[in-house]
Amino acid sequence: MRKNMVIAIDGYSSCGKSTLAKALAKKLGFIYIDSGAMYRAITLYFLRNHVDLGNHDAIVDALQHIELNFHSKDYESHITLNGEEVSEEIRLMPVSEAVSPVSAIKEVRQEMVKQQQRMGKSKNIVMDGRDIGTAVFPDAQVKFFMTADPKIRAERRYKEMVAKGDQTITLEEVFENLAHRDYADTTREESPLTRAEDAIILDNTDITEEEQLHFALEKVSPFLPH
Ligand code: C5P
Repeated sequence: MRKNMVIAIDGYSSCGKSTLAKALAKKLGFIYIDSGAMYRAITLYFLRNHVDLGNHDAIVDALQHIELNFHSKDYESHITLNGEEVSEEIRLMPVSEAVSPVSAIKEVRQEMVKQQQRMGKSKNIVMDGRDIGTAVFPDAQVKFFMTADPKIRAERRYKEMVAKGDQTITLEEVFENLAHRDYADTTREESPLTRAEDAIILDNTDITEEEQLHFALEKVSPFLPH
């Protein structure tokens, strides 16, 4: 049994994992780790440096030149890629469109899982992603598997992107990207997105953020450290 507490949140793209994870972390005083940001930052590096996804040696070499770090500002998690703040750039379409094939690469996953396990070794954390409850922390005390209606998910993500100033994006593009990533993430060979047997299903199609936080806190509270 692990001493520190880990809350694992997995699920499809854009179904509110990070919203719930951040709210839980804030409420409980845990550290929030966005594992998707790590795959996105690696993807940004690969795009910028034209790393050939079919070239094993080039991938291994690139991974050795990447340093990722998280820091927290106003309860928001920020990520740096070799010292550069890339939190906004990694959310834009070029990265969203390229991230699934990068995250399907075995060497990339091995390195990310290693780093994620290190981050959750001694501190109380909430981590969200696709394989947190299955591969990264199979021994997490509480696991959630989140889902929501695909149309609602696309609308939420679209509104979020427009609010951030992305004027070029269309709702259809967002919908297509989510559908494509869900398909790629659930069908890949290396730790595909799947519900851990002991994960609690949370469908937030028809519930508010407050309701989902309340639901999650109820599930988590029996496991909280005293
Ligand atoms: O969570 P987010 O949508 O930002 O993740 C971006 C992509 O990173 C996902 O579509 C998936 O391909 C990959 N990912 C993953 N494993 C994780 C987290 C994210 O493969 N634990």
